[in-house]
Amino acid sequence: MKNKIIIANWKMAPNSFKEARVFFRAAANYAKKTQKGAEIIVAPPFVYLEPLSKILNSEFYILNSFKLGAQDCFWEQQGAYTGEISPLMLKNLGCEYVIVGHSERRKYYNETDEIIAKKLKAVLDIGLTPILCVGENLSERKKGRHFNVVKKQLEKNLKYLTMNYGLEKAALIVAYEPIWAIGTGIFCNPKDAVEMHRFIKNILNLKFKIKNFKLLYGGSVDSKNIDGFLRQPEIDGVLVGGASIKEGGKDFIKILKIADKLL
Ligand code: PEP
Repeated sequence: MKNKIIIANWKMAPNSFKEARVFFRAAANYAKKTQKGAEIIVAPPFVYLEPLSKILNSEFYILNSFKLGAQDCFWEQQGAYTGEISPLMLKNLGCEYVIVGHSERRKYYNETDEIIAKKLKAVLDIGLTPILCVGENLSERKKGRHFNVVKKQLEKNLKYLTMNYGLEKAALIVAYEPIWAIGTGIFCNPKDAVEMHRFIKNILNLKFKIKNFKLLYGGSVDSKNIDGFLRQPEIDGVLVGGASIKEGGKDFIKILKIADKLL
């Protein structure tokens, strides 16, 4: 992995593949032109993954700093699970990363820590890199319980990785995404994010003995505030939601340009 990572989580947008193709080509063309800067991971809705993977392979095959990620997956590799997408399917179409445990999935689909633990294991089992999202809600932050909440999430979500897992080798991305900052326009102070990153790093190192991991911040990151996060050595990158598709993808190009200047 390169120094800093920028993930674009397109969520449930855009409405057509035609638009998706335009956003995707604009970002990949920018990355091709600069050939430096951050490692970029684009996580579009499932239906666009295959055609975008074809574009990546045919038009941008020389780019090794531009990758595809999925926004979710199922916890089994195959079977009768109507409507689900397996990590194996994602791998077969050229996807390298999978977001697991996004707070919107925890909230709207009642994804429990147990479900997230199973998904995380399935992603690692097939050789993809999970992007695990953790973070507290506003009332937990106000009560000063945020460290405890994140610690519990990590312990529960990584629980299957404690046994026989060769964790020294496991590549894992953890995104600290305080729920109160997601999609609200209110972002976490970079100093507070750094404090949480140090805390997470200690847990991954000491409790889980994981060495190969990256820690990202996510929550209302845009072209106006990204430099405050990327300047912190403890923050390996950012997960960008809304701003990755804002203004027809233009804000994302601004984000990439700012990252280039800093790196
Ligand atoms: C996200 O979707 O993970 C996210 C951080 O969203 P936003 O940037 O819109 O807050």
